[in-house]
Amino acid sequence: MRAVAAESKSIKSQERERVKAVAVIPGKPNTIHLREVPKPAVSDVPKGRGVLVKILRVGVDGTDKEINAAEYGAAPEGDDYLIVGHESFGIIEEVGANVTEFKPGDYVSLTVRRPGSSLYDSIGTYDMTTDNTYFERGINLRHGFLTEYIVDEPEYIIRVPENMKEVGVLMEPMSVAQKAIDQAYRIQQRLRVWQPKRAAVMGSGTLGLLATLVLRLRGLEVATFGNTMPPTLNSSLIEELGARYISTKQMSLTEASAKHGPFDLILEGTGYSPLVFEAMNVLAKNGVLAMVSVTGGSRQLEVPADKINLGFVLGNKVAFGSVNANREYFETGVKDLSTAELQYPGWLKRLLTHPVRGLEHYGEMMRILTEAKGSIKVYCEVAAIESSQTSAAAI
Ligand code: BGC
Ligand code: ZN
Repeated sequence: MRAVAAESKSIKSQERERVKAVAVIPGKPNTIHLREVPKPAVSDVPKGRGVLVKILRVGVDGTDKEINAAEYGAAPEGDDYLIVGHESFGIIEEVGANVTEFKPGDYVSLTVRRPGSSLYDSIGTYDMTTDNTYFERGINLRHGFLTEYIVDEPEYIIRVPENMKEVGVLMEPMSVAQKAIDQAYRIQQRLRVWQPKRAAVMGSGTLGLLATLVLRLRGLEVATFGNTMPPTLNSSLIEELGARYISTKQMSLTEASAKHGPFDLILEGTGYSPLVFEAMNVLAKNGVLAMVSVTGGSRQLEVPADKINLGFVLGNKVAFGSVNANREYFETGVKDLSTAELQYPGWLKRLLTHPVRGLEHYGEMMRILTEAKGSIKVYCEVAAIESSQTSAAAI
């Protein structure tokens, strides 16, 4: 009787327990703040399909910087604030009556996009939506994960094996790398016998490092470019994978292509769009260029248009864009993370350079994100992994 009363009470959001969340006021720069929001409940999702996740870690990246600078991001309809954070890792605390896929105690990560109304959305490929409006948790029109608890449907939740819990916060950036590389390979099926040998990865931050890893796992010779002089942690991590680190301070992509190329696959993820055109110019015949930088600016550039066009035509080259990732890429991502842990033990963990303990230290987190030299992954430890494991075992 008492349990029933408690449950019906939890349904009324105004009476619910409050939890902490980190949010911004979209449209107003530097408004990141801590607030209290009603704790979500499994009953928020219809048909007994709700899954309550206790958030353990949330990574931040350039997108969060842009959202706090009010250059990007929008609040959900009806709210004037947006809970930020889109790189999630947590543990399931409760599931609805009709959830068979998960159980309390499972470690998970969540996808970012939620479907709109295009044909692509209707088949689970919401990352390919043709709608003008897209919904992304922690970014656009949907609240994110920098809070103590979230609720969602099983469709958007991916299990992370227990022995990968220390690096589970890398799932979302890994899914972005997986999508771009998988799409490149699918596109290249047009060639029937494509056997890529050399790849170039532009950018040596979290995404560049994970893309280098994925390409090395596929057996390619990889050159990864960064703008700092080696040795750095990034350059060592790249070399430990058997890839080559190239500082653009020492050698341009064009020079590197003449020396170590040509590159059959180039992935551009630096955020500096002029590199896309340099990459087009040096891409190998039958090569493929994946563009993954989200560039909100309005940079202009003069390019050797005839030369690039001729090279593309005579060389049957392809360039494509890739954004976000659906659950398929989280699933292949978790497999590659597991393989990486076996093949390069301890490597993934070294990407987690800057933990910030507790949601209330959001200011410090943003400062590290914008200022810290030598940081790879900055993330918030919302709750400790170990203690939550004990509490899950007690359930
Ligand atoms: C996120 C993607 C998202 C993109 C565009 C990136 O930072 O990792 O999931 O689709 O921003 O909003
Ligand atoms: Zn991101």
